[in-house]
Amino acid sequence: MNENYDVIIIGSGSAGLVSAIQAYELGLKPIIIEKMPSIGGNTKRASSGMNAAETTVQQKKGIQDTTTSFYDDTYRIGHQKNDPAILKYFVAHSNQAIEWLAQHYILLEDLTLTAGMTKKRTHRPASTAPIGQYLINGLLSQIKTYHIPILLSTKVTALKQNSQGWINGVAISTKELSKETVLDGRAVILATGGFAANQKLIQQYSQLIGYPTTNQVGATGDGLFLAENVGAQLCNLENIQIHPTAHVNQVTGRTYLIGEALRGEGAILVNHQGERFVNELADRQIVSATIEHDSFLIFDQRIRERSQAVDFYDKMGFVQQGETISELATRTHLDTKRLRDTLENWEKSVRAHNDPDFKRPILSQQLPFKSPFYAIRIQPAVHYTMGGVRINTKTEVMNAQQEVIHGLFAAGEVTSGLHGDNRVGGNSIAETIVFGQQAGRQAAQYIQRLV
Ligand code: ADP
Repeated sequence: MNENYDVIIIGSGSAGLVSAIQAYELGLKPIIIEKMPSIGGNTKRASSGMNAAETTVQQKKGIQDTTTSFYDDTYRIGHQKNDPAILKYFVAHSNQAIEWLAQHYILLEDLTLTAGMTKKRTHRPASTAPIGQYLINGLLSQIKTYHIPILLSTKVTALKQNSQGWINGVAISTKELSKETVLDGRAVILATGGFAANQKLIQQYSQLIGYPTTNQVGATGDGLFLAENVGAQLCNLENIQIHPTAHVNQVTGRTYLIGEALRGEGAILVNHQGERFVNELADRQIVSATIEHDSFLIFDQRIRERSQAVDFYDKMGFVQQGETISELATRTHLDTKRLRDTLENWEKSVRAHNDPDFKRPILSQQLPFKSPFYAIRIQPAVHYTMGGVRINTKTEVMNAQQEVIHGLFAAGEVTSGLHGDNRVGGNSIAETIVFGQQAGRQAAQYIQRLV
């Protein structure tokens, strides 16, 4: 095994790929280790976008936004449980993260809104591609240009320490290697994602039982144990997010996230009586709590044209369609009159810019409704784990005594602090870029200090 790598990055989601690119550009020799046979982790499933404030994209579209408002929205939705220093760093660097992506040919030039946010600050590709796959493809093309190696189907099983306790390598295992092998480095970046696909841990920390998960099977929380075994402090593991709108394939049980941007563009939620029951743009916790087992997202052709992911949902067979409201009602077994009344009322609310029933903020939705009409059956699913490894704003991993564990950095969903107890859609991709960059930079500075 080549032992000349400076920084070993565990995980090939966007936090891992961004930190590798940043480290490389600062003169380091990185290597990325990924336990799954493919690249991209949960990131490649992301569909909403990336939040950022005071960007040139917003300026061009006439949206006045401030980092203070971005901070306030995130803090309110996270129920003031967010780590203020981490959140402050995050909002202050979000704009620069959008620029960094643009410099790497990843252009997020369209804007939408995610639930709970007061401004359109969710940046996404102007093409129809959902952000996750688009982002991973863009980052990967840079990784290839730089010839940064990625070991696939290779699991990190332990972090290695020198006699002073500083992190200087990892133990890896693969099907091919008969025994664990050590890979030496000078720093390690943990970018292993969350644990939303680990039923056992979910139940241990939250007692949430019986929910499907939107996550890829590798989201099992390995990073928590790797870090804890070298003394890292784990925080807020009980803060687990249920996303209100996931579609479960009734045959395979496979669960897919239906991105919040669809509601951001105007889709409503109706129950089995064909009636609205919530402000669909309330935060995820509130919306999830109001859904009794499952319900339907309903939208028209105009919303479909604004929502990049619907073509994919359609291709996957999630979308039911009716040329008229009554045809859609028949397809979904909803009461035609009630569904029609609901849509007529909603149209009136949009026209009047006032939703008397649920106080949903009314945005620039186009009227009149245009056929065909569409429905996607949805139900809440475990989606994101807000807790994780404690870091400071330099992404250095901390121990219980609030001391830095030298040589160990962490970024992305494996960390705790940014989201409080309820993450806003679009903040997770932003987190991976802002703190992925920071981890790459800080690893470079740390290594410079070593030599
Ligand atoms: P983030 O959004 O924080 O970048 P992702 O879920 O997108 O997180 O990516 C995390 C990646 O880390 C996943 O691809 C996952 O398979 C990988 N991973 C998790 N644990 C390990 C491990 N022990 N060894 C190698 N890769 C791991």
